[in-house]
This record gives sequence, structure tokens and C-alpha cells, in this order.
Amino acid sequence: MTPLHRIHIPPQTGTGFELRKGQVLRITDPTGEQVSDLMAFSKHDPKKVLSSGRSIDYANTIYLTTGHTLYSNDSEPMFTILEDKVGRHDFLLTPCSQETFSIIYKNDAPHPSCFGNLVKNLEQFGIEPHQIPTTFNVFMNVMVDPEKGELTIGPPRSKAGDYTEFRAEMDMFVGVTACSAEMSNNYSFKPIDVANDGRTSKGPAGYREASCATVSFCDGKGDLIGAIRIARAPEAKKATLKKMLAAEVSAVPLARPNLKVVKVADGALDNWDYLSSSALPAGEEAVDFYHASEHLHDAIANVHGDGTHETRFRHATLRETLRDDDGGIDKVIRALKHLATKHPQKKIVARELAYFRKNRKRMCYSALKAKGLMIGSGVVEAACKTLVTQRLKQSGMRWSVRGAQAILTPRGWDQSERFDNAWALIAATFQADITVLANVIAFKPVATPRKPRPKASR
Ligand SMILES: [Zn+2]
Repeated sequence: MTPLHRIHIPPQTGTGFELRKGQVLRITDPTGEQVSDLMAFSKHDPKKVLSSGRSIDYANTIYLTTGHTLYSNDSEPMFTILEDKVGRHDFLLTPCSQETFSIIYKNDAPHPSCFGNLVKNLEQFGIEPHQIPTTFNVFMNVMVDPEKGELTIGPPRSKAGDYTEFRAEMDMFVGVTACSAEMSNNYSFKPIDVANDGRTSKGPAGYREASCATVSFCDGKGDLIGAIRIARAPEAKKATLKKMLAAEVSAVPLARPNLKVVKVADGALDNWDYLSSSALPAGEEAVDFYHASEHLHDAIANVHGDGTHETRFRHATLRETLRDDDGGIDKVIRALKHLATKHPQKKIVARELAYFRKNRKRMCYSALKAKGLMIGSGVVEAACKTLVTQRLKQSGMRWSVRGAQAILTPRGWDQSERFDNAWALIAATFQADITVLANVIAFKPVATPRKPRPKASR
């Protein structure tokens, strides 16, 4: 596996590497007028692959640029284009291949091709040739006749040093080429540079994250009855969100003193500093079971390989132990300790062992389940999607904090089945007298019969 830092791709060749979620990939045309084909597969499920159809469909344009998302075949975001110095790329045409040269250019002689170079460089990740679909052709300049639909390939618009930056939205195996097709590159083959400076980005420059919180109500069996869903536009230390959540949770025992409280969140320390503080009523605490399960998977995959049968089997077994056994967390810690002793060079195992030790007290899942309490934060994860992502994170959207909050607040009411009550409150407070200015034509009351108009005199 090639560690990605800076890779220089000589003319008519390619490269393959792993990219982690959040890392930024920069593809540079060092000399100008050179195309580079980009292809990506999900690391955890290589059936997920970059999809031209999905991406063009959702962006509603064939020219994808800054702010657009490149989607997988099952509609998951794979890349976000953060910065684009060129603004013209192609996502209609397949990577050039031996067949391209013989069918279109009647050239049967062996010819280097992007397809061949992708096959060669993605093989190390277990990707087979037939899995490679239409590539995102960086800097390729394809013009479309709006009437006939005819395509014309022009010289790339990139000048020396121009680049495009892509943020990875999932862990991926990536292939990149310096294209080998004559016409696409204005008839000369040049190199391409790719770089990832180890920089990761949680959002485009200047972007901060919205946050969500939920209060879920469950019956005695732990089944969800209803939920209050709150979303806030980005704010320092999530101050308002924390205040609102505290107010909501504190109001519940006043009305229903017999309800039990369980606090569920991922392992992030600042979550627990808040949830355990006196701002909230006391209650049980649980690290979200699905996050815990992912950490368990990472540890096992570190030793037994990602996606292997062995990893799947061991993960499923230990996951069940963690969830269902009395003292399951201690059995998991013992198993990981054993793994860490046997494989001292595996850093992820040691890291995950520390994670389970640190969160041990919040992982008594079978005891929580026996009390009919929730162990998963699925409700809040879903709220992030339905409240925020679906409405505010579509490609090309930009929001001010005020504008975003104006959408999130009523959307939160609606998804908490509180819209009518909240709207009545707002309407009552916001009633005000309106002064109609003299030069504004007032609406005529409908019932007033029309009088004949006096004839205009000049
Ligand atoms: Zn090519």
C-alpha cells in the first residue's frame, strides 16, 4: 500500500492509494492541459463505487465543481469538491481503454490507457477490472451540443499549477491516472501530481457543524414511543443546545416522576462532561452500542484483516457477548487484552483496548436492556439526517447561522409533533399593529359593492 503524501504520476501511468474519511485529496496539473481520471471504492464495502449517474442526477448538471458532491452507486457521498481552480471536468465518459483506441481511433496497436492503469493500481485492493465504471475525469473538457447532444472534446482548460481538491466522505481505495488519450490532452502526454498533506477537514473552509440532541420516550420494553428533536446551527461549545436539552430533560420528571433516565452518546469526552454534570437529572449512562461495535470491529480487523470471514465471524461473536452477556464488557476487554499481547505491533488493538477500558462503566448493556432502557443513539443519528442533512446539506448550499436556525427550529417542532402549539405561541407574541402608508393601495374588502366610478376629469 502506498502511503499518500505526495505522489508524482509520470505521463500515461497511474497510482492507487488509501484515503481516510475527512482527508483532502488535491489533484494538480503541473504543466497544464492534462487530464487525470479519478476512481474510488469504499474501503469497507468495495461494492460501493463512484457513480456518474447518481452524482449528475443529484447535482442536476453535468459540470460538477466547488460545493458539489460525488456520490456512490448507492447514493452515499464519497467526495465533496472543496476548491476548484479549473471548473471544467467530465463525468460522462469512461476511462480511455485499449478498446477506446481501437473502436474510436481505429488503432489496434497496444496503447497505454487510463483503464489499464486503474486496473493495475487497484488490483492491490482486490478490485477487479469489471468493477471499474465511468471515472470522474478531472480537467477533461467535454462540450455538449444542446440540440444534437453531440460531444466535442476540447483541450483541458487547466493551466500549469491548477488544482482541484476533494474531501473524502468515507474511507476509500482510490485510483488516479495521468490520462493516455491523445485528444483529451491536446495531443501531448504530461504528468499529474496528487497530494494529501495529512490535512483533514471536517467541512469546507469556514464551515462548522450543526448539532442535534433528542429526548426519546420508550415504553417498558424499550420500544420508542416518541421523541423531542432539537437541532442548532453551529455555536461555540453548543451552549444553546445544551441549555435547551437540560430544560427539556428537567421538565420530564416533574410530569412523570416514575420514568427512568438513560443518557446515550458516543465516547467523545465533552459529551460526557456535559451529560454527567449537574445540569441534567441523574440517570444511567451508556456509550452508544453501535459506536462500541464499530470500535470492536476496528480492533479485530487490525489483526484478522478488513472484510475477511475471520473478522466478520469474530466481530459478530464478541459483539453479541458485549450486548447480551452479564459482564460482557469485561469479557470483551479480556479478549482484546489477549489480542494486544499476541500482536504487540498492532497499534489499533491497543488503542481500542484503551477505549473499552475507559468507557467500561458505560457499557453494561445487558443490565441496561434488562431494565428496558435504550443502549443505542439511533434516534439522534436519524435526527441529524432528517432534521439537518436532508434539508440543509444538499450540494452547493451555503447557510448563514441565522438562516440555518430559521429552518432548523420549525423543522424541529414539526419532527417533535409540536408544530401547532409552537406556531400558536409565536403567532400570539408576534401580533403587531400595521400602519398602512398613505401611498399604498389598501386591499378592498370583498363584500363592499362597487360604486360606479366618477368619470375622470382632466
Ligand atoms: Zn484516459
